[in-house]
Amino acid sequence: MAGVPVAFIGLGLMGRPMAFHLLKHGHAVRVFNRNPAKTAGYAEQGGVVCATPAEAARGAKIVFTCVGDGPDVQQVLFDEKTGATREASAGALFVDHSTIAPEAAQQIHARMDGRWRFVDAPISGGQKGAIDGTLAIMCGGAPADFDEAEPVMRSYGKKITLVGGPGMGQAAKACNQILVVNSIMGVAEALMLARRLGADPAKVREAILDGAARSWSLEVLGPKMIAGDDSAGFFIKHQQKDLRIVLESARAKNQPLPATALIHEIYKMLQARGGDKKGNHCLYRAVQIMGGEDWRAD
Ligand code: NAP
Repeated sequence: MAGVPVAFIGLGLMGRPMAFHLLKHGHAVRVFNRNPAKTAGYAEQGGVVCATPAEAARGAKIVFTCVGDGPDVQQVLFDEKTGATREASAGALFVDHSTIAPEAAQQIHARMDGRWRFVDAPISGGQKGAIDGTLAIMCGGAPADFDEAEPVMRSYGKKITLVGGPGMGQAAKACNQILVVNSIMGVAEALMLARRLGADPAKVREAILDGAARSWSLEVLGPKMIAGDDSAGFFIKHQQKDLRIVLESARAKNQPLPATALIHEIYKMLQARGGDKKGNHCLYRAVQIMGGEDWRAD
């Protein structure tokens, strides 16, 4: 499917490559980013760069968002002057790829009030998945709305699943984030122990990568830990936002998540050392600090 008029709002680490994929797949894309510098390159590829979310939504059948937390999504959709719903056609479909609380997504579904439609569609696969166009997308909403958005999301998504009704995409994403951070923590501990034992961490990674310890974290983030590369594919500040969502959702249901709660605390130490804009794999720096070495983000 090509030629669908769409808008894409939020051209950060994830949104920027996703919007380029939409253009490459022949869709008519109008983009907006708060910091205009991040819109560089879209006009040259046939995109239309807009000054507000409202302007981007003009004429779009589907309006995609990929911003920060719940209040950011509310702002780009519903701001009284510049929000996308100001200029969206009646019945337009909104698809949000940000990670927000399931309850926040349900509030947005309700706020559409029958005038527009909404699918919560958080993503997984990291910046690499966005660049390669291989994201996993977990969706919550009405089946007919999912069916309309799914062929367009194929531009950058590989595994696209309707999990259930409103908010259930975000519920799946919360579960995903538990597994992501626990997996990163395991890789960080394993590679640090390899170093302490005098083994070459790169060789250890190579030796175990295709065994039972195989994981996305070991494959994609392991090399960054080994190289001492702290740059972000996913900022610690966003990872902490996600863990806050996970822990608040769990607390509301009286479900303890002890391992995830501990990792949330460990990330706080990295934040106190200036790590907000470092990558979420910097859990290996926390392990290093616990072993007696020092680290601060520069
Ligand atoms: P990012 O690089 O920080 O980008 C966030 C984007 O949202 C920026 O373009 C920012 O605009 C825009 N934005 C934030 N708040 C806004 C507001 N109130 N009004 C207008 N624009 C606003 O983050 P990212 O890594 O792309 O992540 C985006 C979302 O995807 C987050 O919810 C994150 O949790 C989720 N996610 C990220 C990853 C990953 O690996 N990076 C993976 C899965 C899901 P400015 O440029 O003007 O600041």
